[in-house]
Amino acid sequence: NTLIQQESDDINYHLHPYTNARKHQEQGPLVIVKGDGVYVEDIHGKKYLEAMAGLWSVALGFSEKRLVQAAMRQFEILPFYHQFTHKTHDVAAQFAKRLIDIAPVPMSKVFFTNSGSEANDTVIKLVWYRSNALGLPNKKKIISRLKGYHGVTVASASLTGLPGNHRGFDLPIDRILHTACPHYWRDAQEGESEEQFSTRMAEELENLIRKEGPETIAAFIAEPVMGAGGVIVPPATYWEKIQAVLNKHDILFIADEVICGFGRTGKMFASETFGLKPDVLVLSKQISSSYQPLSAILLNEKMFNPIADESNKLGVLGHGFTAGGHPVAVAVGMENLNIIQERKLVENAATVGAHMLKRLHELDNHPLVGEVRGIGLIAGVELVIDKSKKTALEVPGQLGTMVGKVLQDLGVISRNIGDTLAFCPPLIITVGQVDEMVSKFKQALDIVHEKLNG
Ligand code: PLP
Repeated sequence: NTLIQQESDDINYHLHPYTNARKHQEQGPLVIVKGDGVYVEDIHGKKYLEAMAGLWSVALGFSEKRLVQAAMRQFEILPFYHQFTHKTHDVAAQFAKRLIDIAPVPMSKVFFTNSGSEANDTVIKLVWYRSNALGLPNKKKIISRLKGYHGVTVASASLTGLPGNHRGFDLPIDRILHTACPHYWRDAQEGESEEQFSTRMAEELENLIRKEGPETIAAFIAEPVMGAGGVIVPPATYWEKIQAVLNKHDILFIADEVICGFGRTGKMFASETFGLKPDVLVLSKQISSSYQPLSAILLNEKMFNPIADESNKLGVLGHGFTAGGHPVAVAVGMENLNIIQERKLVENAATVGAHMLKRLHELDNHPLVGEVRGIGLIAGVELVIDKSKKTALEVPGQLGTMVGKVLQDLGVISRNIGDTLAFCPPLIITVGQVDEMVSKFKQALDIVHEKLNG
């Protein structure tokens, strides 16, 4: 009865993100009560392999005692202090230095926030502030990409290039523009190579810049590998061509590594994986394995210097959050990084990730599989009904939802992004657990295939 009560409390009193509230009331919640390694358990005692690491984020899995101990220690020593004006606490200072030390490119300063959205919102403000400081009040536009995901606050949702995050909210705000998503498999023209496709993507970006006026464009923001837009891995030469365009027009490059950072792509940062030279690096999620809310923005000298220059006459930087860089969150972040380094989890992501992709590619010939894509421990499998036309069922997302539901019943939590099933398990996952995940996925595909054809 208590169990039923908890489910009905959820239905009666709880508004969830990303639901149709009425539909949720009919369907009811999945209530998770426990976690152990890569597994979680629901209110009825059913166990699931959490193949999304929660929200692409629980790098160390769901029962890392050392993170709990780090939090408890910090709670007892100093449960709160802030960063406003000239004050701070020792853990923030130490962690800022650790992040600068491991950064993929030379960085000067770290600004702490609490979520990916807050971090990106802050970056937009810093970019605008910098343009004002430089005496370039018209250099304010920021370009992001269709299908990019950068959060949900008014400004970061505007960066996000997914219609579902704009619809009903009167977004995007002005000064935010979107360029194309580089999904080669879906959008390449007949006979176009990956390199040619990348050239076209870079030309499209440059055309947008020229149309708007290069002097009005302040920054470009992107995820090295798109996550919530469907796990889109950039095609060959994409990043070098995009970066060449940005350099040519003196446009800042912001790498949103909220999903990619801390080992996800098989290197500590995806900027290393793809040879990116960002001026700003945005980190969250795996920074603390999401045991505590934390995000960090790393700024290079080009970004930081105009902000710091006293001659800019803007006075103090009027921005900051009460809980930004909360000592308990930062203490967890520090221990999280210690463990990632000690246990060589970045290397694990590379080797076990290669195994995951190999196993998923064994499904290439399955009648429902259109494209398998991924790098390191992040992958997407786009489902189709008609392989040559690359189309799924009449209602977009219906096939993905069906497979996702069967897979969940079989004990694997994935996420269907339309008709793409995403896999982004904790970095601690083993080869055996990947095999369990992929074999259940195959079973789910077979069940749905039979249902549709039988
Ligand atoms: N940026 C990226 C790349 C993300 O994937 C997300 C969340 O999924 C965000 C930003 C927003 O982070 P948050 O949900 O913590 O606001």
